[in-house]
Amino acid sequence: MLLSVIVPLYNEEEVVEKTFRTLEEELRSVEHELVFVNDGSKDRTLEILEPLVRGTHHKIVSFSRNFGHQAAFSAGLRHVTGQAVVIIDGDLQDPPALIHEMLEKWREGYQVVYAQRRKRAGETWFKKITAHFYYRILHSLTSIEIPPDTGDYRLMDRCIVEQLNGLPERSRFLRGLVCWVGFKRIGVTYDRAERAAGVSKYPLRKMLRLAIDGITSFSTTPLKISFMAGCIATIIGLGVFIWSFLEKVLAPETTVPGWASLMAAIVFFGGVQLISIGIVGEYIGRIYEEVKQRPLYIEDKCEK
Ligand code: UDP
Ligand code: MG
Repeated sequence: MLLSVIVPLYNEEEVVEKTFRTLEEELRSVEHELVFVNDGSKDRTLEILEPLVRGTHHKIVSFSRNFGHQAAFSAGLRHVTGQAVVIIDGDLQDPPALIHEMLEKWREGYQVVYAQRRKRAGETWFKKITAHFYYRILHSLTSIEIPPDTGDYRLMDRCIVEQLNGLPERSRFLRGLVCWVGFKRIGVTYDRAERAAGVSKYPLRKMLRLAIDGITSFSTTPLKISFMAGCIATIIGLGVFIWSFLEKVLAPETTVPGWASLMAAIVFFGGVQLISIGIVGEYIGRIYEEVKQRPLYIEDKCEK
């Protein structure tokens, strides 16, 4: 059995050597390959890594520039050859010792073993709160149920990797796609450590991008919001229209000429426009579903 470990790296010169040695040490007892994906680091990450990897069967995949964490995973998934594949961050926040526990679950027959954090050391309350609400929103908008407090640290069976590699879509929100693919999954809990060295490579901008990708990859609900808003506006417009008409008839002395009819027209036509946009959105949503070309279903066939 060969275990593959994918490690994305972006400007991790302070920690890359330690990560390499820790993984080697931890995985002594398991036949394994490490696949480092250098996501266009501008520092000495690659320089440090190359001599470490030379002469071993480990691999380095190096990008021409920074393409992002998710792209790094996707690249890693295409280069791995193991029967079980682990994705792990390169900053040692994900304790490598957990891999053994994951492998055990995998041997028991689970195809996805995700790591669930018990505690998040070294993370701001802002990140904790936003992550909490984000996953709730994601679950309510999509069929994707990402277990709370999980990141990308996980083990996947070869058959999941093949399925992921076979999905042609371009914006890849990997945690969502892994859920979408299905199969048997289970979590193992751990305490998330602080970064071994260096600083987070995830500024708010990248975080937001990822969050938006997650929702838009799995839900066309945002496209339909204007339809709902349009319906509400149209109903309000009709109400205003009826009210102003009644007022004109029943109490003509209190009405300002022209005001009610103007308001009614604005709200009503605003509503009609929103509904039209919503209808267009509905079709765009279908086009979007089609171009993603996801399979209609995936059979529960997974040979070991
Ligand atoms: N990373 C990457 N490309 C990026 C940003 C991050 O490959 O554009 C890698 C980074 O080197 C690290 C992992 O993704 O191994 C997680 O990033 P980080 O630890 O900065 O995220 P955080 O733990 O703060 O969420
Ligand atoms: Mg980190």
